[in-house]
Order: sequence, then structure tokens, then C-alpha cells
Amino acid sequence: MVSTSLEAIDIYCKFEPLSDSVYVINGSDSESCPAKQLVHPVTNPVAIIGENGVVLVDPGSSQQVGRLVVNRLRSITDKPVIAIINTHIHGLYWLANDAIKQAYPGAVIYAHQIMIDRIKDGEGLFWVEAITGNFKGDRTIMAAPEQALSDGELLNINGIDIKIHHPGHAHTNHDLLLEVVKDKILILGGLVVEPEVPSQGVPQDADFRGQIAATKYAINLDMELYIPGQGFPQGQELPRRGLQFLQAVYSGVERSYQEDLQDYVITQQLKVELAGYEQWYDFSGMGAVVSEMYLQVEQDSF
Ligand SMILES: [Zn+2]
Repeated sequence: MVSTSLEAIDIYCKFEPLSDSVYVINGSDSESCPAKQLVHPVTNPVAIIGENGVVLVDPGSSQQVGRLVVNRLRSITDKPVIAIINTHIHGLYWLANDAIKQAYPGAVIYAHQIMIDRIKDGEGLFWVEAITGNFKGDRTIMAAPEQALSDGELLNINGIDIKIHHPGHAHTNHDLLLEVVKDKILILGGLVVEPEVPSQGVPQDADFRGQIAATKYAINLDMELYIPGQGFPQGQELPRRGLQFLQAVYSGVERSYQEDLQDYVITQQLKVELAGYEQWYDFSGMGAVVSEMYLQVEQDSF
């Protein structure tokens, strides 16, 4: 029966509770949220429900995803979205902003000032085109963040305390890590994602030494739970795993640079050395990361 299968599809990509106020859609979980790009989330939208409203973090990649997120949100709360926080500029994470604003026109969109500036300089429209340009359905409209957040700030939105961390240039030069103070939960944005080679999407945006330092910083915050940009929320083992892998790749590149090897040779060697990680990480992204790391190691050595 058609209606049965439609109902079955309807329960995909639900918000799952992590505490009494924090919910996540595991966008990269192919079981609960099949990867129908631009229609289903592929990252992890997070809803933090307060006294009178909801803070939504990284709502997703398109107009269609934003509408789905609004629909799923309404099945867990009737409170309105009053704030949207974007962790960084990569398009999968924030292009759904406009769909959320359409449903909740009073919502204020927050991000780091550098993200706001980069969007003004044209990178926002680049991402709209890169992610949604070939989609045949309704066009995605860009809604840029309007309010800047900075490191150390404590945001209180309708009874929700969120501490803002910006540990310097890491996955991008403007990453925000968001601490839900009451629950000791840290939202990592693009800093830690699974199963992926770290920063494989846009390696030239990353500072790999900075990403290692920022991941250590996140671990040292000693949270109960960490929510990655993609992959499943977990305790400290999640950022520790990301750190271990990133350090293994980075030290491999450093060693090979000293031995004067070409970056493609290094990539081949690392794929063998790191074969134990194969079930966690998609190794196809390794080459671009190794090339960029090689450049950064080279620059650091002067
Ligand atoms: Zn990213």
C-alpha cells in the first residue's frame, strides 16, 4: 500500500533526545535518515529547547532540508525557533537558514563575524550554487547570519545558557564550538566529523595544526557528550578518535616531508599505515588533505 510506505518515509530523520532539552537529527545515519541529498539532512541539526523557544544549530543544506527540520521540530515541541546558530560557512550546515526563518520570522541568526564577512564577500552565493545549483526543485534562498558571536561569550537565550568557544583557525578560520552549559554537551560543528578524513571537504580552509590544537581543547573541556557535525554523539572517545587519526596523518606527512617524498607517495603509504581506520573513514578524501598538509608543513618549516 502506498500510504503505508509514505508513512514509513515520514518517520525518517527525526529529532532524537540527548537530554531533556537537547535533540539531534543524525543526518549521516543511513538507517534513520537515508542520504537523499538536499531533501534529507546529511549533517546533524541540533535543537536546544528552552523556556519559551528553541535554539537551532546548523539546520542543514537547503530549503527542502530546512522545511523537513521545521516539520520534525514541530513533532517534539510547539515552541518557536528564536535563534539559529551557524558553526561555519560550509554549505551543508547553514543553507537551510531561510526555510527556518520562513517558518519563524523572529529567529535571529548568529555566527562568528568572519563567517558573516566571508558571506558578504561572495562566498555565501558560491555555496548556494555549489550545493543546490543543480537541484530541480524550489531554489534555495540565502539567509546570512546577522549577529556576531565571539570566543568566551555566554549567550543566554530564553533560559538557555550557551557558552561560545572559538579556538582559533582550525577546520576553518571561524569555527564555533557551542557548549550547552546545563547538560555539559559540546556541539563540534565541522571540527570533528565521522566517518571522514578530517577537513577533507575543503582542506584549504583548514589549519591542520590548529585543528589538532582545537580538538585537544574540546577534549579538555571534559564534556559529558560531544555532538559531531556528522556521525553519532558520544563521550570523549569521539574527539579522541578524531584527534588520534588527525595526528597520525599529520605526523606521517611531517616525517615524509623530512624524507623528501612526494605527496602522492605519502598518500599511498598512509593508506597502508592507517588501514586500521578504514572502517571509520572514507579514504578517498585522503589525497587532498595530504597535499594541503604537505604545503602547511612546508610553510611551517621556513
Ligand atoms: Zn566544514
